[in-house]
Amino acid sequence: MKSIKDIYKIGKGPSSSHTMGPAAAMEIFVRENPDADHYEVTLFGSLADTGEGHGTDKAISMVAASVGKEAHISINTADRDLPHENTLDIYAVKDGSITAKMRVMSVGGGDIEIEGRPSSPLLEIYKEKSFTEIAEYCKHEGREEIYAFLAKVWDTMKDAIHRGLTTSGILPGGLEVERKAQYLYNQRHIDERQVTRENRLVCSYAFAVSEENADNGTIVTAPTCGACAVLPAVLKYMQEKHGFSDEQIYRALAVAGIVGNLVKTNASISGAECGCQAEVGTACSMAAAALAELFEMGIDQIEYAAEVAFEHHLGLTCDPLCGLVQIPCIERNAVAAMRAINAVNLANFLSGSRKISLDMVIETMYETGKDMSHLYRETSAGGLAKLYKGKTNGKN
Ligand code: SF4
Repeated sequence: MKSIKDIYKIGKGPSSSHTMGPAAAMEIFVRENPDADHYEVTLFGSLADTGEGHGTDKAISMVAASVGKEAHISINTADRDLPHENTLDIYAVKDGSITAKMRVMSVGGGDIEIEGRPSSPLLEIYKEKSFTEIAEYCKHEGREEIYAFLAKVWDTMKDAIHRGLTTSGILPGGLEVERKAQYLYNQRHIDERQVTRENRLVCSYAFAVSEENADNGTIVTAPTCGACAVLPAVLKYMQEKHGFSDEQIYRALAVAGIVGNLVKTNASISGAECGCQAEVGTACSMAAAALAELFEMGIDQIEYAAEVAFEHHLGLTCDPLCGLVQIPCIERNAVAAMRAINAVNLANFLSGSRKISLDMVIETMYETGKDMSHLYRETSAGGLAKLYKGKTNGKN
């Protein structure tokens, strides 16, 4: 399994697989082919279906522009026989002829694989590949800590919350979605016997980060851009409520990172591959594990919390309106943050009686994702996106 640095990537939203991954691919290609007159890029699969709303074209064009060149982008929605749902071909063009080509798969969380090349060298540093193996390791040996990296991750998460809570206005993309984090945060006057303070604050933090992501702000993938708000919302609220030290938060982030990496190693964190269960489901599981660690629960209870949080996202589809990472994504992060807290509460009482392991849920999620129609895997061709488009005749 890779380092948890592979899960937490600091970058700009709104989509790790649709912006960070393609931009990283373009940077490699431009570096390797600096003499091209211009570049041509063809987007396939989910990148073709929702790339415009997710900002794929802008991310690619910005890289080309950074070296004074243009990228001509075309969309291919017809070819579905692809090595991965997020595939793109990049060409270098000089004197009217193609001089180089690279096929890239954006496999989730900002990671890419390049056809014909060995997969990312990013440090396969852990030999354990399942939660059971990791639990055994931790009981006996502990884990090297990477606090300097996690401190930067935590600072970036808190910055995103702060910016989100102090910004209002309409999100870009044409859907006219209003930012709500600041409004939620300020509703102190309402009767909080009906809507709990905890719910309002956790949700306002989640809205803050998700809205920053939707507005191309800097966030941390946890495990992706679309699902980046669940973990910081839970940790921020709990640090304020219980006074946890930053060092305790780093430990919680490390535990969450291991859960995210398990899903990435044994299944997928890509909405285009397995639907939203792979993104927000994983994020909820990571947040529950982190919180259980903060409360100093044992390894069995941490696993139970992560399992409960994940299990009840099984089957969750990805159907974002107009291909934007806004509806249902922003609210979904907030709901998942509360669900993570709920899962930890259950784990506190019930972990002795469980029959399902986290590894089983991860495997089930992957099989469910593979069975899922492409309509529900980040194509905006089914579900809410289809219904909304039908009702508005394609106008936002
Ligand atoms: S619905 Fe879920 S998986 Fe799809 S774009 Fe939104 S957050 Fe990502």
